[in-house]
Amino acid sequence: MSDVNLSLTEAHELAVRVLTQNGCDNQNAVAVSDTMIAAERDLCHSHGLFRLPGYVASLRSGKVNGNAKPKVEKLAPSVLRTDGNNGYAPLALKAARDPLAECAMETGIAAMSLINIHHFSALWVEIESLTEKGLCAMAFTAYTPSVAPAGGTRPFYGTNPMAFGWPRTNKPPMIFDQATATQARGEVMIAARDGHVLPAGVGIDAKGNPSTNPNEVLEGCLLPFGGYKGASIALMIELLVGPLIGERCSYEAESADNHDGGPPRGGEILIAMNPQRFGTQDPYAHAERLFTALLEMDGTRLPGDRRVQNRAKSAQNGIFVPQSLHDKIQSFL
Ligand code: NDP
Repeated sequence: MSDVNLSLTEAHELAVRVLTQNGCDNQNAVAVSDTMIAAERDLCHSHGLFRLPGYVASLRSGKVNGNAKPKVEKLAPSVLRTDGNNGYAPLALKAARDPLAECAMETGIAAMSLINIHHFSALWVEIESLTEKGLCAMAFTAYTPSVAPAGGTRPFYGTNPMAFGWPRTNKPPMIFDQATATQARGEVMIAARDGHVLPAGVGIDAKGNPSTNPNEVLEGCLLPFGGYKGASIALMIELLVGPLIGERCSYEAESADNHDGGPPRGGEILIAMNPQRFGTQDPYAHAERLFTALLEMDGTRLPGDRRVQNRAKSAQNGIFVPQSLHDKIQSFL
């Protein structure tokens, strides 16, 4: 079956229409669509329109508030909190961005916790908006159990992504954004949908045996990247977005969830740093020397470069949506 070619504007309008017809107000629908189409545009398919059925499922089941009105408060000079009002993360993140940036500009470092949100997207989107302001930034979130802890064979950690960004003058920021699992679960779901085999070492089946069959891995679990080292980072993220900010850890999110196919309620933490408040001479030029030295080696590239190149292509060619996904999306209208 052939793919459906849509311009970025057509894809955005389609997403907004589907979300508003299924329980989102316009503000929430636009915020979710901005994030989803940004992922689609950069060819991060696992967090693009592929997620729209899940967003719709949780609006229809009533798990997520499509009319959420996020509220930002300051808890300490460098600690802020956004309550997402049980909505999807993108509008809460929009509300959080400027207060966090202003605080970090002033104090040098600031943290923003986001509670009462449902996060279903890629993290680089929120980092990019901070690097655009000259800030260096990090983001972490958890999910529901999909990854075995070190030594274990059952899902316990979420795929718990983390992202880090460094601003660059007149160049796209350096941003890496990665699951602490060997792969994002969405990638495994897409491999299952498209009949692909997974690389060895990605996951195990329900009996704990290594498997490259995506359906078996979805029944079993993913492994952390880098063995126990990745597992420790997943544990750190559980602590940062659970106990530290007063939200659910992955295992708690799962037991409270209605399993409607959409994202569980959880939290996120964003940390922003102003490189100009750390007493250094010229942090940006120093970073550029580092990047230049790194890129002199054959075979290297900076994280995020692939996305930026894809972005330019999508602006010209639009995006390509599998016919089966397009049909499913149309069925929500
Ligand atoms: P990938 O393994 O595809 O990529 C991870 C990072 O490594 C990217 O920043 C990528 O940059 C970079 N990279 C890849 N190859 C190279 C290379 N050769 N040299 C330098 N850098 C490289 O990502 P994941 O599958 O781990 O995660 C995909 C997405 O899923 C993320 O956006 C993440 O936020 C999201 N996610 C969201 C979850 C949620 O609950 N909301 C849960 C889990 C994941 P580039 O993009 O340029 O290739």
